[in-house]
Amino acid sequence: MRYSTYFIPTHREIPADAEVVSHQLMLRAGLIRKLTSGIYTYLPAGLRSIKKVEQIIRDEMNRAGAIEVLMPAVQPAELWQESGRWDFYGRELLRFRDRHNRDACFGPTHEEVITDLVRDEIQSYKQLPLNFYQIQTKFRDEIRPRFGIMRGREFIMKDAYSFDVDEKGAEKSYDLMYEAYNRIFERCGLRFKAVEADTGPIGGNYSHEFMVLAESGEDLIASCLQCSYAANLEKAEIRPPEDNASSNEEKPVEMEEVHTPDIKTIDDLAAFLSVSPRKLLKTLIYRVDDDEIVAALVRGDHELNEAKFRNLLGAETLEMADPETVHRTTGAPTGFAGPVGLKVRMVADQAVKEMTNLIAGANREDFHVRNVNLGRDFQIEQFGDIRTITPDDHCPKCGAPIEFKRGIEVGHIFKLGTKYSKAMNAEFLDEQGRKKYMVMGCYGIGVGRTVAAAIEQNHDDEGIIFPIQIAPFEVTILPLQMHERSVTDTAEEMYYFLQDNGIDVLLDDRKERAGVKFMDADLLGTPLRVTVGTRGVKNGEVEIKMRAEKPPHPVSIQDAPEFIMKQVRLLYDSTE
Ligand code: ATP
Ligand code: MG
Repeated sequence: MRYSTYFIPTHREIPADAEVVSHQLMLRAGLIRKLTSGIYTYLPAGLRSIKKVEQIIRDEMNRAGAIEVLMPAVQPAELWQESGRWDFYGRELLRFRDRHNRDACFGPTHEEVITDLVRDEIQSYKQLPLNFYQIQTKFRDEIRPRFGIMRGREFIMKDAYSFDVDEKGAEKSYDLMYEAYNRIFERCGLRFKAVEADTGPIGGNYSHEFMVLAESGEDLIASCLQCSYAANLEKAEIRPPEDNASSNEEKPVEMEEVHTPDIKTIDDLAAFLSVSPRKLLKTLIYRVDDDEIVAALVRGDHELNEAKFRNLLGAETLEMADPETVHRTTGAPTGFAGPVGLKVRMVADQAVKEMTNLIAGANREDFHVRNVNLGRDFQIEQFGDIRTITPDDHCPKCGAPIEFKRGIEVGHIFKLGTKYSKAMNAEFLDEQGRKKYMVMGCYGIGVGRTVAAAIEQNHDDEGIIFPIQIAPFEVTILPLQMHERSVTDTAEEMYYFLQDNGIDVLLDDRKERAGVKFMDADLLGTPLRVTVGTRGVKNGEVEIKMRAEKPPHPVSIQDAPEFIMKQVRLLYDSTE
């Protein structure tokens, strides 16, 4: 590509509305432009990078036996009504009506469409397993679109859906995708971790998120310092507290009410009573599956984990009770609930077992009770792991210390079971001629988010340092004096040689100052730069510089083409 006739509109200044570095650099390097909130145009160089990620995904999906299709972006409401998601999906789903007044939506995901296709086309176990994938534009009306294409409203996703005859088959399909995803992100040159994620009612270890490790990541991961355990905070399990009664020397004493006027938060209460939040008990009132009221009890310095709580209850939906319900249930406004005398089902975190002489709400406005003791003053039907892990906890697998890391979720694999096949009647006949539901899995990758995450991980003050696999160009040739024949001839010759050898090369043939060309080359982050200048050419040399390294290498004009080819290969080899 010749820069002079191509289109890479770069900027020097940092755009004011871009919070994270990848968003800033994608705008500055001329990769994307915003149309409106969360909706972007991919400019030519950005599109090249997107296409490279897509190609890697295609290669690995095909290699894993998945089959490419392309499904429609517009989906009829009836399918979503069938699966039950039309009412459930909420405002992220962009809904509209066509001229015949038929409801439709712009697909945020494609379980319904693929299940509809498969139920019509597949009748027999002999036709399974199948795994279909597509690379396609999705729309999700995100509450807070931000960080450029990292969290857009319209974005490109690779989504895949597997169909198997039984659980075992589904697990095999899942494992194949797990391996394919590892290869995909390795080939994209990313530093990432596959972490366990919440599976909801399905259970087991059949949901993993692929996290690119980066400070700006929106997700927190608990990661073991010793073994390979890593999980997102929703999922990370907590080791049961050791049953070590002797370590707790405190003797239960008599319960008493304390007046705590205007105390609203746990921190206020701890400060007011001069105790550690560990001594306090939080009693949270929830409405479960729309009808039942359940109280969740966690220690004052712990956070209730709603995903774990919901899974423990086997519930579909969970929401905090409104103030009126809290008042009706506890006899007091929010902030004064406690387990003593509470007449609803109570579920407690396992750490609550270890508490002695705890402080809880008195179910009376402006009052708490102290020296409350489990067994004597209240009973619990069910204990479980219902809190979120903290950095002070230990690895649930090996007991070693853990650390928290930030990550960007670029991929997600998930076992769906028979949720959609049951709701939509996707059946097949097994070997005995019996009707069975297909067992499904789904597997997503954010294509644009992957490019943004790569930039988040690979940049410096000057600009992007693209991993070669997903760089818009592999090599930039930079002739310094465009009026000097010896310079332009050398540059052109090299340009044609590299092109003929399959290298993606950008020839910066603009009549710009050297400084501008250098700055733009650094901004765009092409892994290899070849500088051709009058003085060098006179000495029979060009300068080759790796974007990730400081010093350039002088190489003879004669050896340069081979040298460049070799460097390109080395850059690929370092990640494959
Ligand atoms: P998140 O928690 O970040 O919203 P999600 O759990 O909703 O993601 P999935 O439904 O699993 O995401 O979608 C599969 C992949 O699509 C994600 O792993 C992510 O890489 C990408 N993705 C999801 N939402 C967006 C978005 N708004 N913009 C860009 N990519 C996205
Ligand atoms: Mg989302």
